[in-house]
Amino acid sequence: MRAVEWILQPLHKIYLAEDSGDIKKMWVYRSIVRSSPSRHAIARTVQWTRHLCDAQKLSQTQPNIILMGSPGCGKTTVGRILGERLQLPVLDVDDHHLEPYWGVSVAQKLSEVGSEGFVAAEGEALKAFCPQRSVISLTGSNPMHAEAMEHISKTGRVYFMDVHKSDILERLERMKVSRIVGQNDGTSMAEILDFRQQFYERWYDERIICERLESPENVADKVLACIAKHQNPKAKGYESTRGFNLECSTFNDALLQGLAPDDGLVVPRAAVPFFTLGQLDRLIELSYPERVLRVLERWIPCNEICPSRLREMIHAAYGGAVFQDAAVCPVRPLTGSDGQFLQELFHGPTASFKDFALQLMPRMFLNAASECTEKHKYLILVATSGDTGGAVLDGFSRVTEKAGSHSPGVLVLYPRDGISSIQRDQMVFYHGNRARVIGVEGADFDACQTMVKKIFQNVDINKTLLDKYQVKLSAANSISWGRLLPQVAYHVSSYLDLVKKKVIAMGNQIDLCIPTGNFGNILAAYYAKEMGVPIKRLVCASNSNNVLTDFLSSGCYDITKRRLKQTVSPAIDILVSSNLERLLHYVTNRECAIVREAFEQLRDNKVFSVPKQVAESLHGMFSAGWATDEDCKAAIKTTREKSNYLLDTHTGIAKSVADRFQGDRPMVIVATAHPAKFAHDILASFGRQINHRTPVDLIRGIADEAAVPGLHEALLKTLSSADDKPKLTCENNIGHVLKQVTDLARCL
Ligand SMILES: *Cc1c(COP(=O)(O)O)cnc(C)c1O
Repeated sequence: MRAVEWILQPLHKIYLAEDSGDIKKMWVYRSIVRSSPSRHAIARTVQWTRHLCDAQKLSQTQPNIILMGSPGCGKTTVGRILGERLQLPVLDVDDHHLEPYWGVSVAQKLSEVGSEGFVAAEGEALKAFCPQRSVISLTGSNPMHAEAMEHISKTGRVYFMDVHKSDILERLERMKVSRIVGQNDGTSMAEILDFRQQFYERWYDERIICERLESPENVADKVLACIAKHQNPKAKGYESTRGFNLECSTFNDALLQGLAPDDGLVVPRAAVPFFTLGQLDRLIELSYPERVLRVLERWIPCNEICPSRLREMIHAAYGGAVFQDAAVCPVRPLTGSDGQFLQELFHGPTASFKDFALQLMPRMFLNAASECTEKHKYLILVATSGDTGGAVLDGFSRVTEKAGSHSPGVLVLYPRDGISSIQRDQMVFYHGNRARVIGVEGADFDACQTMVKKIFQNVDINKTLLDKYQVKLSAANSISWGRLLPQVAYHVSSYLDLVKKKVIAMGNQIDLCIPTGNFGNILAAYYAKEMGVPIKRLVCASNSNNVLTDFLSSGCYDITKRRLKQTVSPAIDILVSSNLERLLHYVTNRECAIVREAFEQLRDNKVFSVPKQVAESLHGMFSAGWATDEDCKAAIKTTREKSNYLLDTHTGIAKSVADRFQGDRPMVIVATAHPAKFAHDILASFGRQINHRTPVDLIRGIADEAAVPGLHEALLKTLSSADDKPKLTCENNIGHVLKQVTDLARCL
C-alpha cells in the first residue's frame, strides 16, 4: 500500500497490518503528518503508535476496562471505539445490564423510585453485574454508590474521563438528555456536575484528561496508551542510573531507599509522562494542590498510591494554612525588569523551597512505611548546611501528631559554627521527644555529612538499632526520589500562571533561571519540560563555586583544583552536584555505562568528561552562568531600588545571571528562599548594624527594607519561641554522635 494511504488508515486497521513489515515506516509517516516534523515529535509518535499496537496484542489478558465520568462525557462512544480496536465486547451499564435486570427502561425506573431511590436501586443492580474482559461504560450516577463501586472496580481498571464542564453542558443540551438523576428536582445541570465531581474523584485509577472538544477517537487513543503502559513490563518499577536492576521495586521502595546498591540514583523505568498543550490548558483553572495531583498521578502508579489517597496527602501538604500565600507559589512580574517574573517558593513554614518537597514527602513516607510488611520504626538522619534541616523537621513534625507511636524520629546534625543564628534557632524550635537537633563542634558541613554516611554504611550499628530498638535508619536528602518528584509540580504551575495572567499564550515558550546547588530544583524543571511544558531554556545559576557553569559549557566536570568557597549563598556552596547524575541518565538515553564510568571517574580522579553528543544535547537545553557575592549583593540592591522588592542571596545570584541571559522570552526566576532567612548578609550589605541583634530583630529589620515580600509570619513565630529550647552540641567525634542516635532510637 502507498504511504499516503497508510496514513489515512484508521488505527485499528493498522494493527491488523502489523505483521506486514511496513508498520515501522508507517509510524514515521504518521508522525510527519500528524505533528510538526521535529525529531522529538517523530520519536513521540513512533512510541505512541507502538504502544497502541502493544495494547491490541496484549488485550487478551486484560481485565475489564471501565469507563467512568459524568453524563455526556462520551463514555459510550469512546467505549465503542475501544471495543472495536481491542476486539472486546462493549457493555453499557444502562442498556446491557440495568434495563434487562429491571425489565423496564432507565427513564421509567427513575420516575418510579425518584432521584432519591434511584442511586440505591442502581447500586444494588450493579452489584449483580460480573462482566469479564469487556469494555464497560458506567452510568453517570454509578460512582455515587460506594458498595457497587467497590465491587465493580475490583473487576478491572477504572478510567475517569475528565471532560471540561462546559463541553459536557453543551453536549447534554444538544442531546436533550432527560434521564439524569436529580435533573428534574430544580437543581441546575452545572450544580449536578459539580456535586458529582467528588464521586468521580474518589473512584478512578487513571484520569484521562480530555482536551476541550476532543474527538472520541483521540480520547480512545489516550485510554489505549494508558492500557499499554500498564502492560509494558519495561515501564514498571525503578532502576539505578548506573544500571543495577532493582527488581520488583515500587514507588514506596524508592521512597524508603536512599542510594541504589551500586551507588547510583533511583529513577523510574517508564518514560517521562507527557501532557499535550490541550491537557495543560485544562490545568490552568485549577488550584495549586489540584495541579500537583494531575502531575503526580502521572508518575506514581495507581496501584501503589491510589489517586484518592494521593489527593488527601497533597491537600494536607499544600492546602489549609500551611503555606502563607493562597496561591502557594505565586508568580509575580518583577517591575522594572521587563520580561522577568519571580516565582516565590518561600511561603512555606520554613521559608525556603525545600518545604515543597518536605511537606509532602513525609506523608508519602509514612504511607509507604505503613504498607511495609516488616514493622519497625524509622529514624531519619540528616546532615544540613541550613535549609534542609528545618524543612525536614517541620515536615515530619506535622505527620508525627497523627501517626503517634509509628511516627519517625528525626536527628539533624549541623556544623555548630557554620550556620547563622537564624537558621539554628529555626531548627532548635522543633526540638522534642522525636526530634533532636545537634550542633557539631569544630565541624563543617562535609564533616557532618561524612559522619551521617558512615553511620548509614556501618552494618553493625544498623543491626544493633534494629535488634535492640526495632529502629531503621533512613535519609531525607535531596537525592531521594520522593523529594525530587513534588518539585516538578511547581515548575508546571508557573507556566500555567503565566498563561492564566495572559502574559503568554498557551504553547509560547518561556525560560527559567534557577539558583542551583545539588541540581534537584533544576532537574525537576527539566522533568517539567520533558512532560511537555513549553520551557525553552533552563538557566543554571551558580555562585563562585561554579563547577556546573564549566560543566554545562564544556562537558567536563573537574574539581581537581577546586576548593569549596564560602559565599553569601551557602545553600549552593556545593562542588559535587548529586542530582546531575539523573540528568546524565536521561540525556545519554539511559546509557548506564556512560553514567557509571563518569561518576566512578569523579570518585576516583575528581574529574570526568561526557561524550561530545551528550555535551551538545546539554547545550541545547541548558544555559549556565555564575555570579560573585558582589554581583549578588548588587542585584539585591538594584532590585530593591527599582522594584521595592527584596531578594534573598540565592535569588540574587539567579537575578544577576538572568539579566545576562534575558532574551525575548519571559524569564521566570525561581525565588528559592525568603530574604529573612539570610538577614545577616543582606542587612550587612546595606551597611546596617547587625552585631548583637537577635534573630527576631534581624528578620523584622528585613521587613523594613522593602515593601515586598514583607514579614514571614511563620518564621517570626518559630524564632520567637526558640529562645528557651536547648541548644545541644556534641564533639566532632563519631562515637559521640552515635550515642545521640542510640539515645533517640531508645526513646522512639
Ligand atoms: C537547597 C537550596 C538551593 C539549591 O537547590 P538544589 O536543588 O540543591 O539545586 C538553592 N537555594 C536555596 C535557598 C536552597 O535552600
